[in-house]
Amino acid sequence: MSDRRFATRAAQAGLRADLGTGAVVPPIHPSTTFERDPDGDYPRGYVYGRQGNPNRDALEETLADLEGGAAAVAFASGLAACAAVLRALPPGAHVVLPQDVYHGLRALVARRLAPAGLQASAADLTRAGALEAALRPNTRLVWVETPSNPLLGITDLERTCAVAHAAGARICVDNTWATPALQRPLEHGADLVVHSTTKYLNGHGDVTGGVVVGSKPLVEALRAEQVLGGAVPSPFDCWLTLRGLRTLAVRMRAHCEGAEAVADFLAAHPRVKAVLFPGRPDHPGHAVAARQMSAFGGMLSVRLRGDAMAVAGRLRIFRRATSLGGTESLVEHRASIEGPGTQTPDDLLRLSIGLEAPADLVADLDAALATRARVHP
Ligand SMILES: *Cc1c(COP(=O)(O)O)cnc(C)c1O
Repeated sequence: MSDRRFATRAAQAGLRADLGTGAVVPPIHPSTTFERDPDGDYPRGYVYGRQGNPNRDALEETLADLEGGAAAVAFASGLAACAAVLRALPPGAHVVLPQDVYHGLRALVARRLAPAGLQASAADLTRAGALEAALRPNTRLVWVETPSNPLLGITDLERTCAVAHAAGARICVDNTWATPALQRPLEHGADLVVHSTTKYLNGHGDVTGGVVVGSKPLVEALRAEQVLGGAVPSPFDCWLTLRGLRTLAVRMRAHCEGAEAVADFLAAHPRVKAVLFPGRPDHPGHAVAARQMSAFGGMLSVRLRGDAMAVAGRLRIFRRATSLGGTESLVEHRASIEGPGTQTPDDLLRLSIGLEAPADLVADLDAALATRARVHP
């Protein structure tokens, strides 16, 4: 990692003058194949699109740099990145997952990986002592999501890494919600970081992607599997994600400010049972979050008295859609998207705070929470 500050590195992500033209913004290289020299060598290092591409290399180098890792491997989705880490575990290994792990990962483990021999169990990693109780002699990996989705639980990274390492297990942190702008798990002892770059890192809701960051040996082992298995991201998607990363630092600042304003408003509203946001002093993870994050993020959940779905239905600025981390604010009733077996309460709405003026978001929520629905003209 260079000694420059995060915002400087993000603002210049992947910018290097093109030798042929002097272009400051890098070109897109859609070519699937690269020419050999007369003697048969590939002196520029590129052979074939599945094995490597200049846009993918630039994205991976930048993500490794921003997370403070030695190497990174980009995938065609966040779940492909998560799956690659779990599939790399030896047969019969045990993994500890957080009890409110991203529901797509829970489904992958339950429907595919556990039947194929992976042992998995869930623990409330936000509680001290829970990991110790969940460890088994064959535990090889502990999976952490902090803040968690959609309950905004906070897991102490340093404590969890120390307990896992003492037991000979590795730690993988899904850093999708915090982003390296706010939290860098490798600096707290994690071995691997995964992201759905679909969310804040690309930040504009127009790319599906993922990445794993970590040490060279761990990342290169995953890359070898990826070249064999073929799930690579496209050059255009890599180029777009790199473009998004250049505004990450400023976007995160605005997301955090908006989330704080919305959380303050909701916490004072009579129809609100609870605001789940680590930036609030009454959040059980507030002190840990304040220690390991530089700000509290742009995501929050709210538990309501009365019909949560009906409130979502009355919002005008928040769009009713899944996903998060884009410029536009989104609202989602998580229990219905997660389906049967969900741990998410039915009275909960998850909010992804976008880049709109916070006062407009507050006004939108205020109107939707009014006990009697507005009469639309
Ligand atoms: C969205 C998400 C994923 C899955 O990523 P995709 O890009 O949708 O495959 C994994 N973890 C978290 C925390 C997410 O929010």
